[in-house]
Amino acid sequence: MPDGTLSPSPHIAPTYGRAPLAFERGEGCWLYTAEGEGYLDFASGIAVNALGHAHPVLVEALRDQAGKLWHTSNLYEIPHQRELAEKLVAHSFADLVFFCNSGAEALEGCFKAARRYHHVHGNPQKYRIICASNSFHGRTLATIAAANNPKHLDGFGPAVDGFDHVAFNNLNETRAAITEETAAILVEPIQGEGGINPADLDYLRALRLVCDEFGLLLIYDEVQCGMGRTGRLFAHEWADGEADPDLIAVAKGIGGGFPLGCFMGTGAAMEGISAGTHGTTYGGNPLASRVGCAVVDLLLEPGFLDGVYARSMRLWDGLGGVVAAHPSVYELHRGAGLMQGLKVAEPHAAGDLVARLRDDHRLLTVPAGQNVIRILPPLVVSDAEIDQALAAFSDVAAAVSA
Ligand SMILES: *Cc1c(COP(=O)(O)O)cnc(C)c1O
Repeated sequence: MPDGTLSPSPHIAPTYGRAPLAFERGEGCWLYTAEGEGYLDFASGIAVNALGHAHPVLVEALRDQAGKLWHTSNLYEIPHQRELAEKLVAHSFADLVFFCNSGAEALEGCFKAARRYHHVHGNPQKYRIICASNSFHGRTLATIAAANNPKHLDGFGPAVDGFDHVAFNNLNETRAAITEETAAILVEPIQGEGGINPADLDYLRALRLVCDEFGLLLIYDEVQCGMGRTGRLFAHEWADGEADPDLIAVAKGIGGGFPLGCFMGTGAAMEGISAGTHGTTYGGNPLASRVGCAVVDLLLEPGFLDGVYARSMRLWDGLGGVVAAHPSVYELHRGAGLMQGLKVAEPHAAGDLVARLRDDHRLLTVPAGQNVIRILPPLVVSDAEIDQALAAFSDVAAAVSA
């Protein structure tokens, strides 16, 4: 810390554990400090900078829009919002989109849509949502109740009612939790915050069947795993249409760094979201929608997602080698696409290794639950950048076991 500017601000609520590090600019997968030191960014602002930093097409879209129109409110038609909705609908299971600004808001929208769906079908008693243990859905009152993480709920009681909890990836427990009051089932197809835990595709397929059998809505939280991160636009697409949800929450990558989120659903699932039932001032404003269109166009360029998948396999194979070479530091690797995790072996701590990767190797990663190092490079990462990160994982393991 050369001067006082990198210590925590006395005027910012101290909710985050910040590294004493600030960046001045970014380019592709690299972040640079004011002194010009480059850091390889395998955190992507927690899966937000899907197209890396300062992507020229996104910069141009934002610049051009900034000179024309920022905000009008949803009292008027917003052409780029319409265009973005058309793109999302054309490339997903969904028929209807509601734009918002963040992941938690997208989840709140899904909860409201699920309750209203049963309300308009004459079943207002069906309001409860079955959620998975070890989840993360945001920090609003309802999303902390949905995730049920005691650390996030502490002192914020009474918890919002209407969420039941079962083990992740456990079909029997899920079925057993269904009651007359159940409205929906909510899961992350790949748990991010919880430690990069992918759902089995057969579990997702089974959830689809269970929801059909009991008349429940299936809700996916793809805030972290969606928008191309796994090599398909949405992670559940790996089940080839056999595990499509009724509602999905999207945020993070969709704005490439500009705050944007949405929830989408089939026409049937969105039936309750009629005129006047929901709203938000900024949702899908001209700036956000313009950038969102540019992000989606880039993700859907021919070959782009296949490239993501190919490079994810290089990372996957490389991490396998890292684990095999350092079993006393890394227990295993898991994940899908460019959303992978290294589970750190006790007594080593993921947080300590993340700090060493940052300070000694200038590689940025994110700690996650279950002692996992979360690896989320921008989707434009190169083979050489993957190899550089793999070398850092090995070097740091050698250093801590020396
Ligand atoms: C980040 C995240 C959220 C919350 O998004 P915010 O934009 O921080 O509100 C919800 N669900 C998942 C899976 C996330 O990773």
